[in-house]
Amino acid sequence: MKCKICKGKAVIKLKRHNIKLCKEHFNEFFIRQVEKAIKEFRMFRRKDKILVCVSGGKDSLVLWLVLSKLGYNVTGMYINLGIDEYSEKSKTKVINFAEKNNLKYIIVDLNELGYPIPELSKKSRRPECSVCGTVKRYYFNKIAYDYDFDVVATGHNLDDEASRLLGNILHWNDEYLEKQLPVLPAEGKMLKKKVKPLIRLTEQEIASFAFLNKVDYILDECPLSVGATSLVYKDALNLIEEKIVGTKQFFYLQYVKKLMNRLEHKNNEKSDIELKNCKICGMESFHDVCSFCRLVSDER
Ligand code: SF4
Ligand code: ZN
Ligand code: ZN
Repeated sequence: MKCKICKGKAVIKLKRHNIKLCKEHFNEFFIRQVEKAIKEFRMFRRKDKILVCVSGGKDSLVLWLVLSKLGYNVTGMYINLGIDEYSEKSKTKVINFAEKNNLKYIIVDLNELGYPIPELSKKSRRPECSVCGTVKRYYFNKIAYDYDFDVVATGHNLDDEASRLLGNILHWNDEYLEKQLPVLPAEGKMLKKKVKPLIRLTEQEIASFAFLNKVDYILDECPLSVGATSLVYKDALNLIEEKIVGTKQFFYLQYVKKLMNRLEHKNNEKSDIELKNCKICGMESFHDVCSFCRLVSDER
């Protein structure tokens, strides 16, 4: 197997692009895809302060590394979710990775704050992942606001977004469908812009990049993800991709392209809705009490 560019030894075959590449040219391809997404969707500028949400998994660690190598001003944010051994292991991965690569980071510890996800889920009688989503969203905004970041970046990849799109279409979740852009604009002063620079890359490509570049990430999945429907949609899309190469990319990126103007227009409209300051924590919210404070206090 020879690299299409230099004819050296190829280490990877990219089916959807119909090319084989050596490590050096795969890395170049990979970084180009990230740069392309940043430019195409105007995610951030050189001078922006970027908060990268890191979980210890391959996607977020790779994103953190690539953005820092590209010279962006990045800081990682790790939220210790308080999910037993999994959280401890992933925290260690993040800290070791940051130290090895000389990266700045911030840790939010839900155990110390008294809000570990399993406990919050029991108390609120809401599914763990739904509680986790609310808490993570809250701290992404809060930390970004408190430390004056311009933008929040997450490691969502093409598989994540395509499977989410499939799930939302299958259930006709119109409201969520409208939020499936790689960029969500800031709202008010406190709810920061959110971006997904890895949306042009598949899970497999990211795993290959991590392997080839010795990114030491946590292999275990979150134990609470067992039975998640998103995994079913991912499997379904992989099955189609096996037979019809390029479907995943076409499905998601064409959706974004065709509907971007309309969606952007709608998102702009949304910023006209008046934001209030949460009566409990002061963060901006569309309600008198924000969804995080409703979750952790008795005001439900
Ligand atoms: Fe949170 Fe785990 Fe659910 Fe992911 S799978 S949303 S980390 S609880
Ligand atoms: Zn090569
Ligand atoms: Zn609040």
